Amino acid sequence: MKHDVIVIGAGYAGLTAARSLHSAGMRVIVLESQNRVGGRALTERTEENPIDLGGQWTGPGQLRIRALADHYGLTTYPSHTTGSEQILESTSHGGNGIIHRLNMLPHLMTLLPAVVRLHHLVKKTDPTQPWHSKIADRWDTTTVEEWLETAVTSRRARRWADATLREAVSTDLGNISMLALANEIASAGGLRSTMGFEGGAQQDLFVDGADRLPTLMAAELDVRLDSQAQAVSRSGGSYRVTTSTGVHHMADRIVVATPPPLTREIDFEPALPPAQLEALNNLRMGSVLKIFAIYDRPVWREDGKSGMALLPDGPATTVADVSPPGGPGHICILACGRDADRLSAMDPDIRRRTVLDALERLFGQKARTRRTWLEKNWTEDPWARGGYSALPTPGTLASIASAHTQHTDGIYWAGTETARQWQGFFEGAIESGERAATEVIDDHVATATPALREEPLA
Ligand SMILES: Cc1cc2nc3c(=O)[nH]c(=O)nc-3n(C[C@H](O)[C@H](O)[C@H](O)COP(=O)(O)OP(=O)(O)OC[C@H]3O[C@@H](n4cnc5c(N)ncnc54)[C@H](O)[C@@H]3O)c2cc1C
Repeated sequence: MKHDVIVIGAGYAGLTAARSLHSAGMRVIVLESQNRVGGRALTERTEENPIDLGGQWTGPGQLRIRALADHYGLTTYPSHTTGSEQILESTSHGGNGIIHRLNMLPHLMTLLPAVVRLHHLVKKTDPTQPWHSKIADRWDTTTVEEWLETAVTSRRARRWADATLREAVSTDLGNISMLALANEIASAGGLRSTMGFEGGAQQDLFVDGADRLPTLMAAELDVRLDSQAQAVSRSGGSYRVTTSTGVHHMADRIVVATPPPLTREIDFEPALPPAQLEALNNLRMGSVLKIFAIYDRPVWREDGKSGMALLPDGPATTVADVSPPGGPGHICILACGRDADRLSAMDPDIRRRTVLDALERLFGQKARTRRTWLEKNWTEDPWARGGYSALPTPGTLASIASAHTQHTDGIYWAGTETARQWQGFFEGAIESGERAATEVIDDHVATATPALREEPLA
């Protein structure tokens, strides 16, 4: 049977596209390589409460995911932020290496001019066409690491800024340009909206886990699991998609909603346009390792601690309390960029001990008595190859941004990396899916009714 559209990839982006196309009356199937949907949303359900090993937070500016959650009756709970935050440094800087909120202030003040400069750059960046700025070339060839060297004079504050930004983009700051950073932040509504907890993207968590929404969307669609799209070939006006199981599916149009490293591995015939290939080659996945320590209750709160910490000297990058209300204590540890790489290279026992040592320094001896320990290394995930998302290598943003979403000859592009708003987030994945579906529907209507189009104006 020939379909109107085949969507490749059953993450937030692909499922949103398929849902919109299905609602518009089109015959659509979704091919998914794994035996589950959700992609970079992956929820573990072995504990009494769900644990999100992939993306988890959502926030007030993310209207699409909120509307979908409301539609399916899904609820959220607020991130716990009460109590003191901590910064954990190496003891080589003196003392026990722990800096409490009040003592942070003088160092934070030294960061202020840099924050203001970044804020101005974000304001000047138009996420729909970030390369259209007089300063785009300069900022796209300056890495964030290079900029921090001059923008933040205090070495200590620079390390803090490095860890904060590295956690935001999940890659070492030498791998990302200032323009790409500003673009990412601008696409999510600004600094506070991107990085904040209350009022920002980390404000809320899904009660049923972040993969519940894609699971509910998939239940209304024709999703073929264990069906990796290996080849897409065009013959006449149709496309043929060949899967890993040797099955062929035919359709008029294809929506590709896979992470860029996986898209590169699909064999397209005819080959993708050179600009598209170049864009895909210049997008690199970040490195992220996510760890959860589960406790009978949030023990750190008993000592007035919020559970939030920044670890500028590793071994991880940040720690956050994501405990469900009234439930057990869930501590989420994110290791990003070089922290992820170092921890991944360790033997699992040594890795656990290294991270537990850091938790003990933050929360005391009781941090050792966790009841569950979970880890997910996204760099080793064959269907993501990293996380949170793929980012343009320095100097390539203009070519990527203009080519990556350009649909040609019946092939359309979705995925959080192609979003114009909230790139790298669930919200961006949804936006991209909606955009791709609109493009498909517009083209379908245009080709299905040529007589109408060619009708001379009266
Ligand atoms: C550790 C981590 C933490 C994050 N935290 C947050 C957060 O708190 N909030 C937030 O909003 N976002 C967060 N993100 C980002 C968010 O998860 C992603 O932006 C979003 O899930 C991407 O959705 P997508 O549909 O574009 O891609 P994906 O979710 O990657 O979906 C793509 C799908 O395509 C499938 N696929 C790949 N190749 C093929 C093929 N050849 N054939 C068929 N199927 C294929 C994959 O299996 C996958 O299911 C995080 C990500 C990670 C990894």
